[in-house]
Amino acid sequence: MRFIEPHAHMVSRTTDDYLSLATAGCEAVCEPAFWAGFDRGSVEGFHDYFCQLTEHEPRRAAKFGLPHFAWLCFNPKESEDLKLAAEVIEIIPQFLDRPNVLGIGEIGLNRNSRNELKVFEQQVDLAARFRQLILVHTPHLEDKLKGTRLIVDAIKSDRRINPARVIIDHVEEHTIRLALDAGFWAGMTLYPESKCTAARAVDMIETYGAERLWMNSACDWGVSVPLAVPRAGLEMRRRGHSAAAVDRMLHGNPLQFLAQSPKFKLAAE
Ligand SMILES: [Zn+2]
Repeated sequence: MRFIEPHAHMVSRTTDDYLSLATAGCEAVCEPAFWAGFDRGSVEGFHDYFCQLTEHEPRRAAKFGLPHFAWLCFNPKESEDLKLAAEVIEIIPQFLDRPNVLGIGEIGLNRNSRNELKVFEQQVDLAARFRQLILVHTPHLEDKLKGTRLIVDAIKSDRRINPARVIIDHVEEHTIRLALDAGFWAGMTLYPESKCTAARAVDMIETYGAERLWMNSACDWGVSVPLAVPRAGLEMRRRGHSAAAVDRMLHGNPLQFLAQSPKFKLAAE
C-alpha cells in the first residue's frame, strides 16, 4: 500500500515514526503549523518554529527517503493575543518561498471567538495575496458545526479564493457536506480514541463518494497513531473496496490536491 500523510505534526514525533511511515509505504509527509501544547510567548518563538518546519524537519525526514512539506500560520488557539498574531503574520511571507512550503495552515477556529475569526480572516487574506493553498482546522466537539459554517462563509466571501485550493480538515458526518457542497476539499482526521475512527471515515466515503476527500492521522504530541492512514486503507479493503479505490483515497486524492503547489513532489519522482 502506498500513501501520502497529508497532515502530521512530526516535530512532536520520534524518528522511529518516520521509519514506520516509510516502511508502511508513505511517499510524502505534510506538516501544518500547529499549537505546541502551550502558548508561545514571542514572535521569535514562531520564527524558530518556522525554521524547524522548513529546515530541520525536512532533513530528518530525508534520512528515510521521505519528502517533507510544511504549512505555515499563526495557530487559532493562540488568537486571543492580537498583537502577537499581527507580528507573526508579518514574518510569514519571508518563509513562503522556501522549497517545502505548500501554503497557509492550519488556520481556522477553536472556540469560534471574535478574535479567532478576525485572525482567521487576516490569514485568508495572506493566502490570497501570496496565492497560497489553504489548510483549515475546524473546531472539535460541540463547536464544530457552528465553526465550520463560520469558516465556510468567511472563505466564500473572499472572492480571491478558489475553493478547489482549500481543504477543510477534521470534518465529521455533520460537517462534511458543508465543505464539499461549497466546492472545498474535505479532510477526515483519524483518531484512536474519540472523534473519527477508520470505520466512520469509511462510512463517509461510502456515503459521499471519494471525490475531494482525504484522510490523515494529524498525529501530534497527544495520543495519536502515525499509521492511521494505512490502517484505514486496511479497513477499506476489509469492507470490500478495491485496491484501486484504496490507492485513490490514500494516494491519488492527496496528490491531486497537493500537486496544485508546483513544489509538491513524491519520493518516487
Ligand atoms: Zn493538526
